[in-house]
Amino acid sequence: MSERDFRLLATDELLAAVVGDVVEIRVLENVMMQKIAELSRRGAASELGYRNVAQLLRHAVRWDLKTARQWVDRAESLAQQLTPTGSVLEPELPITAAVVAEGALSGEHISAVAEVMKDLPPAAEQPVVEFAQAHEPSAVRAFGKELAYRLHQQDAEPNEAEPKPSANRLRMEWKGDWLEVSAKLDKIAGAKFEAMIDPLAKPRPTTPEEGPDPRSRAEREGDAFADLVDLMLRADRLPEHGGEPVTLTLTMPYEGLVAQTGFGTLDNHVRVPATLVRRLACNAGVIPVVLGGRSEAMDIGRKARTFPAAIRRLLVARDQGCTFPGCDRPPKHCDAHHLRFWSEGGGTSVTNAALLCRHHHTLIHRSDWEVKLHNGVPTFVPPAWLDPARTPRTNTAHRAGRHVAA
Ligand SMILES: [Zn+2]
Ligand SMILES: [Zn+2]
Repeated sequence: MSERDFRLLATDELLAAVVGDVVEIRVLENVMMQKIAELSRRGAASELGYRNVAQLLRHAVRWDLKTARQWVDRAESLAQQLTPTGSVLEPELPITAAVVAEGALSGEHISAVAEVMKDLPPAAEQPVVEFAQAHEPSAVRAFGKELAYRLHQQDAEPNEAEPKPSANRLRMEWKGDWLEVSAKLDKIAGAKFEAMIDPLAKPRPTTPEEGPDPRSRAEREGDAFADLVDLMLRADRLPEHGGEPVTLTLTMPYEGLVAQTGFGTLDNHVRVPATLVRRLACNAGVIPVVLGGRSEAMDIGRKARTFPAAIRRLLVARDQGCTFPGCDRPPKHCDAHHLRFWSEGGGTSVTNAALLCRHHHTLIHRSDWEVKLHNGVPTFVPPAWLDPARTPRTNTAHRAGRHVAA
């Protein structure tokens, strides 16, 4: 295929092809490293009159000496070692070697893994390599430092007589799709945090639609924490970047978005099922980026992805909080939900939006509840299993005297 033909490829195909090329290059680099290791093993440098293999390669392929040394180091850390008696030993980094053979890691990754493993026991290679398969080399170095620090802490603790001066701590660790967070806050920060969480964690009011709040205390407090994060992302005073609050982007192939299959990917490599992408796309903290497909859909995606502040102000004035029947959440805890999704032609206007709290936003995207504007009032039609007559209802919690017009 020539350079001209690449212009005919859809963007997602082109991107996938680049990813494929990178894997192939890495596989080939692994073969090259095995050959470099063999040159080193048989003493080729002295055979040809060079001081070492790096000097030899510098001359042979015109690498800088630094680059040549890096490749030799990588090759030697991944290669099987021969003892003087001729028996074969495991490579220094056996798990890394297996993954590199599949083309999963770059040379920079190998250097980063080798560097952090100098301060870690062999048992740490598995988690370090798993981390390296999902992150860039600089992140691998940071991860290794953190691991080494934690191991050092564990070793040091039994000997420590003096209590450490109090310091706030936060630990975050991705476990699959979940970020585990544990924090230690001093008295003042702790009290402030509790004061923010408590009101958000109170049980939802019991309504005929949903009954009593089924969540455990830990679940309510967890949701409250997530609400707090959303609240911060919406706050006006957070630093702005290019006119938009700092946000996550969510990348998704157009076909998957329309068919609601496959995954979108967040900046931090977390994969999000397509069925959740629409809800996230309504969220002010997340910007959808659609790959491939018809250009007009992508244009709409670009322009209509989130509701600008002016429209949000109008929505707040109209809805005064979550619009789901019986909900009392105020506007600051609400997303502007697109009544018609932008890939289906829905625009970014007050007439295509309703405020919903996080819980009811999830409910609307996951269930058969329907939302429409009726005389300017967001009106909810329950699923047939809940109400066979499917009687429309509105929220009267924010102001009295609102009814569905006949
Ligand atoms: Zn929504
Ligand atoms: Zn609500």
